Amino acid sequence: MILDIVTYPNPILKKISKPVERFDKELHKLLDDMYETMLKAEGVGLAGIQVGVDRRVLIIDIGDKEGKQSPQTRIEVINPEFLEWEGTQRGKEGCLSIPEYYDEVERYGRVKVKFFDRYGKEHIVDADGLLAVAFQHETDHLDGKLFVERLDYIRRKKFEKEWKKRLKNQKKQKKG
Ligand SMILES: [Zn+2]
Repeated sequence: MILDIVTYPNPILKKISKPVERFDKELHKLLDDMYETMLKAEGVGLAGIQVGVDRRVLIIDIGDKEGKQSPQTRIEVINPEFLEWEGTQRGKEGCLSIPEYYDEVERYGRVKVKFFDRYGKEHIVDADGLLAVAFQHETDHLDGKLFVERLDYIRRKKFEKEWKKRLKNQKKQKKG
């Protein structure tokens, strides 16, 4: 089932998500629906709160070497915790909750993350590059943080200005 994606500036996105306690059918259904929703929206990551569920659940699928996404490249991440982080990298990010806006963010270059899969089995993953960015971007969502809050001052101002303009135009379109 395709779920509705919550977009900025909906205050739901500021909520801090609670840990998952039960690895049950309900969780599996949520993960399945989230994956379907993410693929349809052509994203590489999606956090529970982006579909209005305040639980520490997220999905990442950066695809294979050609960028092709499939259940084999999908990572289901529950209750993630960073064990190690080092270095930095800068790159353009986007977010399904801030459609069609991309800008450069600084992130850790490499992270080591501990998390659980849908069956409650523990995994530890060492990630760098885009995968490391995805883990950081999505985990930020669980703490109520969006990538635009990590932009430097000038970029942040530019975003706010552009988004205001966009919301205004949307209102006009609805009226007209
Ligand atoms: Zn996002």
